[in-house]
Amino acid sequence: MQCTRFACAVTIVLAWPVAAVAQQGPDIGQRLMRDTAVLAALDAIRADEPRTIEDQVRLCEVPAPPFKEAVRARVYAEAFRAAGLMNVRIDKEGNVLGERPGVAAPGPSRGATSSSSPPHLVFSAHLDTVFPEETNVKVTRDGSTLRGPGISDDCRGLAVVLAVVRALNGANVRTPGPITFVGTVGEEGLGDLRGVKALFGDTLKGRIDRFVSIDGATSAGITHIGVGSRRYRVTFKGPGGHSYGAFGIANPVHALGRVIEAISNFEVPSEPKTTFNVGRIGGGTSVNAIASESWMEVDMRSADPAALRSLDGRFRQAVARALAAENARWKNQGRLTVDVALVGERPAGRTAAASPIVEAAVSVTRALGITPMLQEGSTDANHAMGLSIPAITTGGGGRGSGGHALDEAWDSTNSWQGSQRALLLAIALSYP
Ligand SMILES: [Zn+2]
Repeated sequence: MQCTRFACAVTIVLAWPVAAVAQQGPDIGQRLMRDTAVLAALDAIRADEPRTIEDQVRLCEVPAPPFKEAVRARVYAEAFRAAGLMNVRIDKEGNVLGERPGVAAPGPSRGATSSSSPPHLVFSAHLDTVFPEETNVKVTRDGSTLRGPGISDDCRGLAVVLAVVRALNGANVRTPGPITFVGTVGEEGLGDLRGVKALFGDTLKGRIDRFVSIDGATSAGITHIGVGSRRYRVTFKGPGGHSYGAFGIANPVHALGRVIEAISNFEVPSEPKTTFNVGRIGGGTSVNAIASESWMEVDMRSADPAALRSLDGRFRQAVARALAAENARWKNQGRLTVDVALVGERPAGRTAAASPIVEAAVSVTRALGITPMLQEGSTDANHAMGLSIPAITTGGGGRGSGGHALDEAWDSTNSWQGSQRALLLAIALSYP
């Protein structure tokens, strides 16, 4: 149907059951709070919080190391089906998808530059953790505190996404636009956003208008600035030999030490925050052998693309200098080589604070009596921001601590507020 923006809006007002709310706007939170179905859903999700926490624990006790999320993905897909989502499936990359249709008939795919027809919202959390396979993932409880690897990041997000589906269906809330709920793979570490990249580049290519990731805790944070990162694996190689007998040849471990020394002395801007970290190192076979190989993994981040580029340049220079210095030190005996492999790249990006999606997140947060906090982060939303598709990441409620550490903890005090906010956000963002 061809129509003017105004005429379409009129049609929508008549057709949608949530009659008080026709369009998104800065007061969408308040307007949604006057809708009886929405209020029923808010009550339901609050009452459902113990079950949401049970889900959080249950999902977290299924290991999901990087590149090995398949078992947790199957459990999550089953939960999507049980919650009543349609067309539940696992895509080629391993992402779990489930659909909830909107009230308005789906139009042709419109991409990010859409008109005023209802948008297609993707509402997601990530399945993977940073922890390797052998990690003990048993969750323990101590009063309101739960402990376990990934309990906040991102088992909380997974459980809240499920709770939103249950609340929408239980209270029969009809959203104008369709919502696809997703559990992504590969958000952490060397996963390099492979799940969300496949989602935008293949599975739902050209069909996502808005993207939300529920990642970690808090009920106030709204991440609209995507901190970019570059990650490298650097490998030095040489002939190796006996530590005594072959003494006098270049040493890959020593070369690694030279680079790390240089990196550790980098000066970086504090505004915008720019960081570097040598996260893992390895190499060698024995205390009395000159190694034939050494390696390290390096992570550099900034919300400012120029600062990240500059840091990246200095890093590459440091590697080249260390190689030259180690070879020169031993007069090019047993010459070393180096391989610098880019193993991760997240674009820096931002969704403007004045954009409708951030405005809606601020509005629903305020409507629940919580003071919103705009912030930056490095999440699945980075990829969408890099494609200029409106995207944010918000917390799922409660309080997390010790993220990415084995003793990660999550405090459930008032965590239902995060569930309520996620619910309101999903509804609000389904409006044009
Ligand atoms: Zn996370």
